[in-house]
Amino acid sequence: MTVSEKIISQTNKFGANNYNPLPIVISEAEGVWVKDPEGNKYMDMLSAYSAVNQGHRHPKIIKALKDQADKVTLTSRAFHNDQLGPWYEMICKLSGKNMTLPMNTGAEAVETAIKAARRWAYDVKGVEENKAEIIGCKDNFHGRTMTAVTLSSEEEYKRGFGPMLPGISLVPYGDLKALENAITPNTAAFIIEPIQGEAGIIIPPAGYMKAAFELCKKHNVLFIADEIQAGLCRTGKMFATEWEGFEPDMYILGKALGGGVFPISCVVANDDILGVFNPGSHGSTFGGNPMACAVSIASLEVLQDEKLAEKSLELGNYFIEELKKISNPSIKEVRGRGLFIGVELTEAARPYCEELKELGLLCKETHDTVIRFAPPLVITKEELDWALEKIRKVFAS
Ligand code: PLP
Repeated sequence: MTVSEKIISQTNKFGANNYNPLPIVISEAEGVWVKDPEGNKYMDMLSAYSAVNQGHRHPKIIKALKDQADKVTLTSRAFHNDQLGPWYEMICKLSGKNMTLPMNTGAEAVETAIKAARRWAYDVKGVEENKAEIIGCKDNFHGRTMTAVTLSSEEEYKRGFGPMLPGISLVPYGDLKALENAITPNTAAFIIEPIQGEAGIIIPPAGYMKAAFELCKKHNVLFIADEIQAGLCRTGKMFATEWEGFEPDMYILGKALGGGVFPISCVVANDDILGVFNPGSHGSTFGGNPMACAVSIASLEVLQDEKLAEKSLELGNYFIEELKKISNPSIKEVRGRGLFIGVELTEAARPYCEELKELGLLCKETHDTVIRFAPPLVITKEELDWALEKIRKVFAS
């Protein structure tokens, strides 16, 4: 039995069965490359669902982690820590907003945004207590907490977990008329992914998001952009909503906010919205901890200093064009923005991912028929050419 086989059988024996990973164990990583315990090398084309935009173990981020570990790691919010203030200022300057609330995981930040929107509806908009409504989009993915699965249209995400939360409705993604019909005087917020990642890299029709934002403004409804996966340079812009030239009322960020090194997420908005929180109304023991903040500051600096948005756009355009040239009747569509790319097939994508793995390329199917290609944004053109060679080979066979 190899070390990898032993670890996989241990994982299967003792772990809850809530994932179906490809049969590979990763024990080392650097940049876009990972290794298994047997020393086999693979290219990572998933980036931990876009949490590793800066590449695995970016030296600057690892240095920030080590330096901070030698000073202080956790204070709780019962006291101030010296990393939180500078991080707040950085995030606000980056987003053009004036208030931030840190959490740890994406789903927690989604919870935070929904709580903020509900309280805003009561305290500012004047909605009657317990009547606030949230509108989401079908086929979304906002995480796995009760609010996030209530927002989901995927039966398997909800089965056996009821009762779901009240006050939540869904409209088809990209359908402006449906959104207009769903808005009532009690609507607090509309929450949307600028590109639906887990649904298979679905890009809404051009102009839809901006028009939805304007509709929300007309009806005094908050527009919440869940940029946890699409944000932070993934689509070729710092924020994916920039593609339509407007600023949402709230950004939800996570994943690459911690450079794939330390979990940190947040909600960013102006004080007329996030100002609804007062001491005691919300929090998290680890939220805003100095390790996460130090790592996040370095992670954001890497995104900016290395111009990863521009890189994602340029290399993404190249990669998409090359993928489109592959002629195979099983390929239904190649779509994407920046290095956030989906190849939709007419059949199951899993066997293709397994074959690519055999050739040293790691990617993961999403929604059965889509292969997602989302490498770390530090990837080079030469490395992309290496990947293309493997992809062409699999589609030729
Ligand atoms: N929102 C979006 C758009 C996501 O893609 C994800 C994770 O894939 C989440 C929320 C949930 O983030 P987390 O897994 O960190 O809770």
